[in-house]
Amino acid sequence: MACPACGQRRGLFRRWTKMADRCPNCGLVFGRFEGQWIGAIGINSITSFGLLMIFVVVSLALSYPNPDARSLIILSVIVAIVLPVLLFPFSRTFWMGMDLMMTPLTPDEVDWTKVDPSIAADMERTARSSHATPKADT
Ligand SMILES: [Zn+2]
Repeated sequence: MACPACGQRRGLFRRWTKMADRCPNCGLVFGRFEGQWIGAIGINSITSFGLLMIFVVVSLALSYPNPDARSLIILSVIVAIVLPVLLFPFSRTFWMGMDLMMTPLTPDEVDWTKVDPSIAADMERTARSSHATPKADT
């Protein structure tokens, strides 16, 4: 769990499920646009369901040939409730990184002196290539 722009690890979350509004180091606003966290919710859901499925399959395999359906259902419900909460900060920071790859930083979004130099170089390269594209309508 680190800021995707500067690598800051502290201060990104006020509580386990409460993310700060911006990075305390570089100033990156985490909610860059409305609806941004739908991707994080998707990643969290897919990961949680995948791990739940693995849990159920392994539990059935270990208790074969006499699985205790009641225990399995109760444990599965507990896992289904706990996993998305446990994965919340990871899915949020992972999605922030994905978002930065899809929507590069603009010059006024962060304090560039704090941004990881490799990320700053990538942003500069992306900006240069988008400016170098010839216009078809002229
Ligand atoms: Zn940062």
